[in-house]
Amino acid sequence: MTRTGTSTVEAVYEEVVRRNPAEREFHQAVREVLDSLGPVLERHPEHAELKTVQRLCEPERQVVFRVVWQDDRGEVQVNRGFRVEFNSALGPYKGGLRFHPSVYLGIVKFLGFEQVFKNALTGMPIGGGKGGSDFDPKGRSEAEVMRFCQAFMTELYRHLGEHTDVPAGDTGVGAREIGYLFGQYKRITNRYESGVLTGKGVSWGGARVRTEATGYGAAFFASEMLAARGTSLEGRRVVVSGSGNVALYAVQKATQLGATVVACSDSGGYVVDESGLDLEVLQRVKEVERGRLTDYAERVRSARHVVGGSVWDVPCEVAIPSATQNELDEAAAARLVRNGCVAVSEGANMPSTPGALEVFRAAGTAFGPGKAANAGGVATSALEMQQNASRDSWTFEHTEARLEQIMKDVHARCAEAAEEYGSPGDLVVGANVAGFLRVADAMRAHGLV
Ligand code: NDP
Repeated sequence: MTRTGTSTVEAVYEEVVRRNPAEREFHQAVREVLDSLGPVLERHPEHAELKTVQRLCEPERQVVFRVVWQDDRGEVQVNRGFRVEFNSALGPYKGGLRFHPSVYLGIVKFLGFEQVFKNALTGMPIGGGKGGSDFDPKGRSEAEVMRFCQAFMTELYRHLGEHTDVPAGDTGVGAREIGYLFGQYKRITNRYESGVLTGKGVSWGGARVRTEATGYGAAFFASEMLAARGTSLEGRRVVVSGSGNVALYAVQKATQLGATVVACSDSGGYVVDESGLDLEVLQRVKEVERGRLTDYAERVRSARHVVGGSVWDVPCEVAIPSATQNELDEAAAARLVRNGCVAVSEGANMPSTPGALEVFRAAGTAFGPGKAANAGGVATSALEMQQNASRDSWTFEHTEARLEQIMKDVHARCAEAAEEYGSPGDLVVGANVAGFLRVADAMRAHGLV
């Protein structure tokens, strides 16, 4: 990195840390992007002058609100809600809602920041945002989840709109929660504004393949990285972490592409099945019964459940981390490399720590960062918005073909930018540079706003 580029990004980073104290995940996400931008600022000094990077690191709007609701015993519960509207240079704010007890402003900001670059990489007209709550849906009844969603939307609705801010699901928010959120939005506004939320049920405005899109996209991205190295997923041994929305469909698509997925996990442990996970049972346990992996292991005789531990202990050639941020650390990365892992496609957001990233770089492992590899979810959300705007409904096959092409294009954009800016093959640099340039150009066109 040249001196001017280096000193600019270092100064920006110091400022971000000072202005956003104790937001560790946000700092980490910013650091990772800034590390790629030195050469870009050298070639585009106008962005240093316009303080484009500083402006990109400051969300356009941050909303933090109280959510009060009553549980089934009549006890009053107080949660905190968030929506960070990060950047609208390319379109309405777009990004999911996460319901998990770990959610605080620093998590929402890291996710929103990543989202800006990811959405830019899809090539679609969407800005970046993210939101959520520290509400824990685990163990809550259906009625409690509904009351919480209604209370949450009663505040959030005033910030949303199909041309303003369009949330979707994320951890803890699936089709059920999107349904309750949409119902409350409709009740308050008296508008059937389909394009205000994505991830809707297919019978009432949702897009086919949206449920599958993030996981499918991560598997397609893995396949694309391998193709660039003259090989494929066919016959590969794959490990996927997590067993939620992203993980389930990464397992499905990797299997359809000829791989054998031998393990997946949840926060209690992991299951290994050398003959390949039984997706039908897995889906029934996780999606229908909302059960645990222990339930899966009880039903599938060839499966072995390991309590605690790390799923990355299971040897594989391709890893698709699809659980949560910082779930794959330096030691786990070293184990993966030692065991013959040749490609990592991040289904989750920032699952690999900076130390893990260094291990993969040093080993020459093909590495698809989340902002590229998991962009299929938001891209299909944008396709849902298109269908809502034209009151249309596409077939599964057509939508999946669009998704596959989008993932190929995202990969190509990253590879080209990496090459052009002096880091051939480094898709982390490529994703950051390509995402930055698209957003930065639009910001420049819009003037100092
Ligand atoms: P889900 O809530 O459907 O599933 C999350 C899964 O990860 C669960 O199996 C959960 O286990 C596991 N998990 C969560 N925290 C931990 C932890 N600390 N250790 C081990 N396992 C854990 O979420 P999604 O599948 O929707 O999201 C997963 C990741 O993908 C997140 O990083 C999200 O931001 C990202 N993502 C999601 C998109 C989407 O369309 N849904 C789009 C792009 C990215 P348990 O049930 O035990 O908690």
